[in-house]
Amino acid sequence: MKKFSELDLIDPLQRAIEAKNYTQPTPIQAQAIPPLLEGRDVLGCAQTGTGKTAAFTLPMLQHLAGSGAKKGTSKRSIRALILSPTRELAGQIGESVKEYGRYLSMTSLVVFGGVNEKPQIRALERGVDVLVACPGRLLDLHGRGFVDLSQVEIFVLDEADRMLDMGFLPDVKRIMKALPQRRQNLLFSATMPTSVEGLARKILSDPLRIDISPEEPTVDAIDQTLMFVQRSDKAKLLCELLAARPVDSTIVFTRTKHGANRLTKKLDRAGFSAMAIHGNKSQNARRRALNQFQEGTVDVLVATDVAARGIDVETVTHVFNFDLPDDPESYVHRIGRTGRAGRKGTAIAFCDERQGDQLKAVEKVLGEELTIDEDQPYHSAELMAAAAAGRPSSSGGRKKSRGGRSRGRRSRGRRSSGRSKGSPSNGEQSPNRSQGNGRKRRRSKSGWRPKS
Ligand code: AMP
Repeated sequence: MKKFSELDLIDPLQRAIEAKNYTQPTPIQAQAIPPLLEGRDVLGCAQTGTGKTAAFTLPMLQHLAGSGAKKGTSKRSIRALILSPTRELAGQIGESVKEYGRYLSMTSLVVFGGVNEKPQIRALERGVDVLVACPGRLLDLHGRGFVDLSQVEIFVLDEADRMLDMGFLPDVKRIMKALPQRRQNLLFSATMPTSVEGLARKILSDPLRIDISPEEPTVDAIDQTLMFVQRSDKAKLLCELLAARPVDSTIVFTRTKHGANRLTKKLDRAGFSAMAIHGNKSQNARRRALNQFQEGTVDVLVATDVAARGIDVETVTHVFNFDLPDDPESYVHRIGRTGRAGRKGTAIAFCDERQGDQLKAVEKVLGEELTIDEDQPYHSAELMAAAAAGRPSSSGGRKKSRGGRSRGRRSRGRRSSGRSKGSPSNGEQSPNRSQGNGRKRRRSKSGWRPKS
């Protein structure tokens, strides 16, 4: 592995790296920085957590430091544009640009919606070198003449897959029309579906492709388990698991914003300090939640996928997939919020009666079956058997389980007997069907034990 000193970075950047206490470049930094310094376009397949922000920011700052402001311009012009799909990610990139550029006299600005535009407009009028932006606010400000993109030399499209998922393609196309023809282009994406490949072909010219597979930096460091649980029991299971130990930094992913709000209320009522973070929250509320989570005053962050990309908190110990994601690739992004910066992490996924298909899709992406933890108080043998038989329970299972729901019949540390007709009545025995399917199973290896 290369050292930073071998990467031909100028002294102010080397000093900024030292100030960050980075000892070695991450794989994406080692691979991307040299070609980017040469001015090549790069297509990077890498997720947040791999060090990709420094991978594109360091060479970008070096280029800007060397090229200087355009002649004939009275104020600084935007020479680098970084597009981010979410406000959180934009904010974090903006912070990184400031930190890596601390020994250079360069100005940067982050613009996104949901906050007062006046300070952004004033900063634009003073002039910025590096603009980090979310597409909506950027187009708005551009349309009203506050942003001039004609001097952009470097264009970075970050989290391209998420950008497309969020419907930003038309906005990206409009922004690209405002950019000059000659420029260096970088496109980063955690996944490379054909839609992103197509966009990459439009934006990039003879790019160098760098693949940092999502599993590389994070998944190995994450202990992943799967729990089968009826939908109606999931909140109770989560509370029990959280109560079974001192609550550390935990992120819980739900499918919908309303689901996140509902769950946050339940956690609150159960005495946990939890906050929701999703697209319906104002920017201030999202930032407040993130700050409090980072500081440790909030232990549990309940998030949707849209908010997930921007969460870069190194100390996250646990990630719960309270709902499995509809897009299986998101599973990897979600659990990648833990196991960061060399730490170990724990990821626990709940699979309920509607999510057999999602589980299959996630395991297909992972290339292996998740380890089941049966030793939890709301374990559903019925759901486990359905999954083992390769029969997604999302169709017939829903009705059946509703009818079979039996409140108040479960006991701590034991599986509910009323819920799964024909299946064993406690956690000691498992249905034969699930035994021979090659799934790894284990009991409480995740360290979650009811406190009874
Ligand atoms: P990113 O993928 O850019 O979001 O970076 C993920 C995290 O890794 C951030 O907290 C960075 O500060 C950190 N990081 C980036 N590069 C390095 C490095 N070379 N050594 C250690 N940590 C790093």
